[in-house]
Amino acid sequence: MKALREAAEKLLREKRVSLVIGYEDRKGRPAFFAAKPEDCGRLAYDASCRQNLAAYLGKPEIRARLPVAVVAPPAVLRSIVVLTAESQLPPGQVLALAVDGDSFLGTFDAAGVAELLRAKYSTLAPEPALLERVQGLLQKSPAERAAFWEAEFSKCTRCYACRAACPGCYCSRCIVEKNAPQWISTAALGHGNYTWSVMRAFHQSGRCTLCGACEAACPQGLPLMLLNAVLDREALEEFGSRPGYDPEAKPLIGSWSADDDHSYMR
Ligand code: SF4
Ligand code: SF4
Repeated sequence: MKALREAAEKLLREKRVSLVIGYEDRKGRPAFFAAKPEDCGRLAYDASCRQNLAAYLGKPEIRARLPVAVVAPPAVLRSIVVLTAESQLPPGQVLALAVDGDSFLGTFDAAGVAELLRAKYSTLAPEPALLERVQGLLQKSPAERAAFWEAEFSKCTRCYACRAACPGCYCSRCIVEKNAPQWISTAALGHGNYTWSVMRAFHQSGRCTLCGACEAACPQGLPLMLLNAVLDREALEEFGSRPGYDPEAKPLIGSWSADDDHSYMR
């Protein structure tokens, strides 16, 4: 904690950034925006910090304050690499204050973040408990799986907190809000709910860093990480995709190769 605060304070004091986006040292660990060196004593980090702070990097209010630094555990570091690969971060304008558990790992630019991830976190995998839930789901028949998701999605109130929490959801106008034509019903009811949640997860496939922020934000307790992890597995097995390690990588969802497996086309 002390090292993190000192590093953040140094960045602000030396005017290398105008803002440090971190977590506040109080219950719930909400996001905290340190604009002055003396604010940095209020920063904290521990395992209860579930919010992915990279989601702020696309906001106009933050864009107006660049350069900024962001407190980033491994999944958030991967989000920074994904955003870099998708040309969503102005070069040299975002620094990461890397943290992991009780350790502060240092201050890194985008290239340094990718290097750190490859050196220290190249074997990052979903947590065993989540993998177990994925296995349990995949053992069900397609009809049972459909019934499971139908029951879960029926609880969705379409608050879009999952979208707001995700750094990968940065479209200025989400498909769910387009109404000419309307692709997805906006009523919080069966079919539209199903389409919304499946579409949100599909748009993240090969881009999701399994940070868990969407599931943590969902007030209805939907098991969004289960859906994300299934798609993460598919992206890895079918396309060798491991998002968040290569700032030059083309996003899986936005690229096509003649070598892709086309066996699904009939
Ligand atoms: S979809 Fe959820 S788990 Fe994946 S990057 Fe977005 S917020 Fe994180
Ligand atoms: S956060 Fe939960 S309830 Fe809100 S739109 Fe997303 S899945 Fe639905």
